Amino acid sequence: MREDLTAVAGPLLDWYDKNKRALPWRGTRDPYQVLVSEIMLQQTRVTAVIPYFLRWMEELPDAAALAAADEEKLMKLWQGLGYYSRARNLRKAAEMVMGRFGGRFPERYEDLLALPGVGDYTAGAVASIAFGQAVPAVDGNVLRVSARVTGMDGDILDPKVRRRFRTLAAEAVPKDRPGEWNQAWMDLGSMVCLPNGAPLCGFCPLAGLCEANRLGLQEALPVRRKKAPRRTENLTVYLLLREGRAALRRRPDKGLLAGLWEFPHVPGALPEADAAEPLPAWGLTAHEWRKKLDAKHIFTHVEWRMTGYVLTVTGGGGDFTWVGRDELEALAVPSAFGKFLDEARRALKEDI
Ligand code: SF4
Repeated sequence: MREDLTAVAGPLLDWYDKNKRALPWRGTRDPYQVLVSEIMLQQTRVTAVIPYFLRWMEELPDAAALAAADEEKLMKLWQGLGYYSRARNLRKAAEMVMGRFGGRFPERYEDLLALPGVGDYTAGAVASIAFGQAVPAVDGNVLRVSARVTGMDGDILDPKVRRRFRTLAAEAVPKDRPGEWNQAWMDLGSMVCLPNGAPLCGFCPLAGLCEANRLGLQEALPVRRKKAPRRTENLTVYLLLREGRAALRRRPDKGLLAGLWEFPHVPGALPEADAAEPLPAWGLTAHEWRKKLDAKHIFTHVEWRMTGYVLTVTGGGGDFTWVGRDELEALAVPSAFGKFLDEARRALKEDI
């Protein structure tokens, strides 16, 4: 087992100089851009983030613009990235930068941690990349590569084990290139020391000092305890059409997909024969049956199995907002309802 990571810096940075990925947020030391990119990259693949990042920077180029952005614009810019609380926290962070920090990004790691949505990893990334501070940014990539390089077989979901890896990383950050060192870990973790499957040890700059490579333990490391199985929720979702408009409603301000727009739904999977059952409670009557439309969406902890119905209706009531084509495009509807959104676009185009 290897008990330190200081020998990693030389070969890792040499490799990074030759192989680093060209990404739109690379090369900047603007803390706002670093923060936005790091928050977007949480739980989301780099290729998916790039267009979102570019669009965001065009619309909201600095903390002042973000702090002043309204909710609808924010959600629209984030639509499709998922985990929408990240966007709201970003705006709260921008408000804090403009208020408590007088419009200047805090430089100290400890102050960065005070920003909403910013944890150890993100504070480390911003402090090192934007402000050149010798602090590590330890995420799943770093934990995976560190576990393999050191050969340590502790459960990386255990906070004690994570702290141990963080200490090793903190001791090893080179003072002259901390930001590049952290980004080099990110690139190595995404390009060479891959998760789920065989890492590309033959191309790895750390192969000569890696315990997993020496002992053939690449597949066994890192150790991770089994996660609880994902829960399944059945929903019956409605695309309700009335005089060229579709019914949407806003989700509650707290919880999954908080504050976003959704198609009306009820719990459970109603069969076709009972599909109209919830309509009277919404003050509506089914006028014409159009089609059945099923969908599925997987979140981290829950899977939605959606039985869907497209109906034209008459009547009023319910807490719905009836939107036309243009309004539909202006509202943030999460990708969980993507199939219904596409169908609504089609139906409203036909002016039903
Ligand atoms: S040698 Fe293989 S297991 Fe070790 S760090 Fe490199 S890619 Fe990962």
